[in-house]
Amino acid sequence: MAVTRTFSIIKPDATRRNLTGAVTKMLEEAGLRVVASKRIHMTREQAEGFYAVHKERPFFGELCEFMMSEPVVVQVLEGEDAVARNREVMGATNPADAAEGTIRKTHALSIGENTVHGSDSDENAAIEIAYFFKPEEIVG
Ligand code: UDP
Repeated sequence: MAVTRTFSIIKPDATRRNLTGAVTKMLEEAGLRVVASKRIHMTREQAEGFYAVHKERPFFGELCEFMMSEPVVVQVLEGEDAVARNREVMGATNPADAAEGTIRKTHALSIGENTVHGSDSDENAAIEIAYFFKPEEIVG
């Protein structure tokens, strides 16, 4: 299987609870390597632009407010079949449905405050990585 990249966000509910290291450890133990990482406080423009695909959904406003509420850690992860591998260790969107041992089952508070974001396709991973990182910030 090919080594690919995906985009991850450690969300405000996790940074607030000082879980950046705990979440990163779970990503690393799943076989993903952090090849870029930075802590940022998202602006409204960044949050609304990033989640533009959800702008007609009822939770859009609340989701953007949450993502702007506290710092996040944006990361580029590299590994074999990185998108699928990351989605597997993240667990289902709603922590109530997430499998044992996943990040969301272990740490998420609710369907909204669910600890991590992960790209859902290679195509979206490339778009999302470029949204937050310059090529020279990624060191593989
Ligand atoms: N979300 C929410 N309420 C919902 C569905 C989603 O607040 O009913 C939030 C949640 O933070 C989720 C994000 O919107 O992670 C994006 O939703 P998506 O369906 O893309 O889930 P994901 O890919 O993050 O599992």
